Amino acid sequence: MKDIIVQKFGGTSVADTDKIKNVAKAVIREKNLGHNVVVVVSAMGHTTDILMKLAGEITSKPSSRELDMLLSTGEGVSIALLAMALQEQGCDAVSMNAMQVGIITEKVHTKARILDIKTDKITKHLEEGKVVVIAGFQGITDDFEITTLGRGGSDTSAVALAGVLKAKRCDIYTDVEGVYTTDPRIVPCASKLAEISYDEMMELASGGANVLHPRAVETAMTHNTPVRVRSTFKLDDIGTLILGVDKMEIHKPVTGVALDRERIRIVVCDVQDNPGTAAILFDGLAKENISVDMIIQSYARKDLNTNDIAFTMEKADLDKAMQVLRNVKLELGYSRVFVDEKIAKISIVGAGMVGRPGIAAKMFRTLANLGINIKMIATSDIKISCLVDIEKADEAVSVLHSVFGLDSDEIADVKGDLPNV
Ligand code: ADP
Ligand code: ASP
Ligand code: MG
Repeated sequence: MKDIIVQKFGGTSVADTDKIKNVAKAVIREKNLGHNVVVVVSAMGHTTDILMKLAGEITSKPSSRELDMLLSTGEGVSIALLAMALQEQGCDAVSMNAMQVGIITEKVHTKARILDIKTDKITKHLEEGKVVVIAGFQGITDDFEITTLGRGGSDTSAVALAGVLKAKRCDIYTDVEGVYTTDPRIVPCASKLAEISYDEMMELASGGANVLHPRAVETAMTHNTPVRVRSTFKLDDIGTLILGVDKMEIHKPVTGVALDRERIRIVVCDVQDNPGTAAILFDGLAKENISVDMIIQSYARKDLNTNDIAFTMEKADLDKAMQVLRNVKLELGYSRVFVDEKIAKISIVGAGMVGRPGIAAKMFRTLANLGINIKMIATSDIKISCLVDIEKADEAVSVLHSVFGLDSDEIADVKGDLPNV
């Protein structure tokens, strides 16, 4: 069989019917290069946001099962329209949703992980010479419940499909020309990266660079799938290649800066300083599928035998987390809980920071010079993250970007609407 290329087109790429016709041309172009093509599409434009808003007009606490039923409809529209556009342009194509393919996930609504993907029907269609257009973002449990993979999850659908189909490459087509040193909408002189390692991309994505879903990077790493991020509107530009670090030359300590405005901080005050208290708290959160990233436990107040525990998590999980905290109040014996919603996490990422002292100090000094207070710090081998006031975040990203030598002389060519921030 011919090599398979998986192409994924995001919301802005399929925002209206003219854009869908344009996407059909990009698909046919790839097929004409002699490849079998599997296409994964997102919902049109801001459809998923609009569906979320509709749910919000009915209830402030929609059931997560019904939310998945609702949100999964967006991708159903785009696959059918793209298959029609391909057929209209003389290309045999068939659309398939997650149920028809067999994209099996865990039974976790609104942020399910893919467990398995059946390939038999896709392969059959490809052998018949068809382009297969598959709905991103959706999944199905083994008892036929509809799930979704979390916001931005179509990237993960595409990379997972590329992995199981042993595709030659997965191309993520979007509204920017590749992965930049930071979000080019915040810092117009951000530089486009020709290549970036899986590890760095993972840290940037989990730090808030929504150009790629973090689980898509994780999946690409597992299957060793080459991924290219590129523009739907400039097909000749080959974008950014994401690959293993051993194949790269490292020139700078910092490769990119990421910003995440979707987190909140919770501070639990005067927790009993006994073995097991942190375990009780984080077990409770884990059972509700709440993922926590930065965690700080303060120095214990020996006289009172208490300390404070602070952590950050997604805004969307606030109600569930507060319920968990109420459930464990007696065991933890805490006095108060503070919720800080006006925060942002800024991360500098670079494989080149390993073994180079002074990078953290330079970041902290830069923030201090801007009069920015650091509320929390977290580090990994190749990432340093600081939690700061949301109002100062854009300025901090832009200055850090410059201080670490990432500014380009050119202004990034950014297409599409400005994101809602
Ligand atoms: P799609 O709808 O195609 O999935 P997304 O909006 O999810 O597109 O992701 C593309 C957006 O990611 C860009 O428009 C850009 O604003 C943002 N972005 C954030 N960080 C980066 C980065 N480092 N490089 C490129 N784009 C970034
Ligand atoms: N349509 C979904 C979203 O807006 C999935 C995606 O676009 O990747 O989050
Ligand atoms: Mg996206």
